[in-house]
Amino acid sequence: MSNSSKDSIDTVSKLCPQNVCTGCFACKQVCAKGAIHFKEDKGFLYPEIDASLCVDCGLCTKVCPVLNPRIAANDNQENAVSYAIWNNNLKDRMNSSSGGTFSALADKTIERGGIVYGAAWDDSMQLRHIGVEDTEGLEALRRSKYVQSNTDGIFKDVKQHLKTGRLVLFCGTPCQIAGLLSFLGNKDYPNLVTVGVVCHGVPSQRSFDQYLQEIEKEENVKVIDCSFRSKKRGWKPGLNLVMSAKKADNKVIVMEKLLSDNVYMNAFLKLYFLRESCYNCPFKGNVKGYDADIMLSDAWSLWSASPLVKVDFSKGISAVAFNTEKGHNFLMQCGDSLCMLERPYAEYASNSGFKSARKPLNNDAAYEYLKNHTWMETQSKYFPMTFKQRLPLYTRLIMGENNSIRIKRIIRKILHR
Ligand SMILES: Cc1cc2nc3c(=O)[nH]c(=O)nc-3n(C[C@H](O)[C@H](O)[C@H](O)COP(=O)(O)OP(=O)(O)OC[C@H]3O[C@@H](n4cnc5c(N)ncnc54)[C@H](O)[C@@H]3O)c2cc1C
Repeated sequence: MSNSSKDSIDTVSKLCPQNVCTGCFACKQVCAKGAIHFKEDKGFLYPEIDASLCVDCGLCTKVCPVLNPRIAANDNQENAVSYAIWNNNLKDRMNSSSGGTFSALADKTIERGGIVYGAAWDDSMQLRHIGVEDTEGLEALRRSKYVQSNTDGIFKDVKQHLKTGRLVLFCGTPCQIAGLLSFLGNKDYPNLVTVGVVCHGVPSQRSFDQYLQEIEKEENVKVIDCSFRSKKRGWKPGLNLVMSAKKADNKVIVMEKLLSDNVYMNAFLKLYFLRESCYNCPFKGNVKGYDADIMLSDAWSLWSASPLVKVDFSKGISAVAFNTEKGHNFLMQCGDSLCMLERPYAEYASNSGFKSARKPLNNDAAYEYLKNHTWMETQSKYFPMTFKQRLPLYTRLIMGENNSIRIKRIIRKILHR
């Protein structure tokens, strides 16, 4: 348990149990004494109180969004609306994970002199939240990264900007939004717009590091960028991971991994190695009233929905919902950059990312195994790919890339006849 090392019955300062701690960093950022440190367990970071520095003010306990659930603000979604949205700017849309809605919101914020917070890789491929103040910087924030992003120090930054009256757009997972709002004392800042991604869970930086190290060793390269869902071959969950890597002579190469050859995405899509709190997430689907002003997700359910069949889905579409008027108004102000179609809320809410991920029964055993084995060995033993999953890789290897694409098209035509 990550609970306080200062846990005699009469202490005020207590942290939430490790199995429900989301690692939002609110407790660390509120502590003026620097008495909270984060330690790693099973690849994830958890807070601990240093008894020698703690003055028992109880702020860390008060700020924890798990220990202090709010009353749901907007529980009745009966009349709620949602939208299918895509960005009119094709480049931004193609460089985003779904319809590029985030990019339009971020552009509008910067146009107004605001600052945008989101998750970006640093030089060592560690995922951290950063603040971006110009449109060029937004490229680093685009795209879903399937690793938990570190928000240490960020809520404090956000608060400082808010106090000066600057417009702030903060994008993150629902638990990060909950941490931020709690850190801000649940005060409604008119100049803060929060954007949540519907998230089925986050794997740890540690397990991603191991995956990268194995690739780097095998290919003798240094990975410098990673896009989990490149749209080069269309828009499908986890279809195509693309990495940029530097060779020994500093030449940058692009490496592509289809889902059928991608152990990391195979584990992620089968819900392995997520943070423990993701298996029982209290911040999904408007349960605890910590909702973001705007929620973004992938509009998978619209593949077959009328009247959208004619739209080019291969470029990605976002399903977007609102929890506040502020969120709705802000999105409407981005209307010039976006194509928007009103859709039934039930369609948005049918997204499986709305529910907590189901923990695979052998998840913990697989994690222990991964510590001393490669990703590939762990996959073979615990979550092997089926023949159907592997088929695209086999056809590509046997027939060459172009023939395999042609065969896929023919099969698709036959199936849809
Ligand atoms: C870990 C994770 C799991 C997801 N699971 C689902 C799901 O199950 N179902 C579903 O419909 N959609 C899911 N999404 C959301 C979806 O993939 C799209 O990101 C979302 O629809 C926004 O797309 P976009 O094209 O508007 O913007 P994009 O350009 O794709 O921008 C995405 C925004 O998300 C932020 N972001 C990226 N990675 C992280 C991260 N690890 N932590 C916090 N913020 C991050 C970026 O900073 C950026 O602001 C998930 C996203 C993440 C990050």
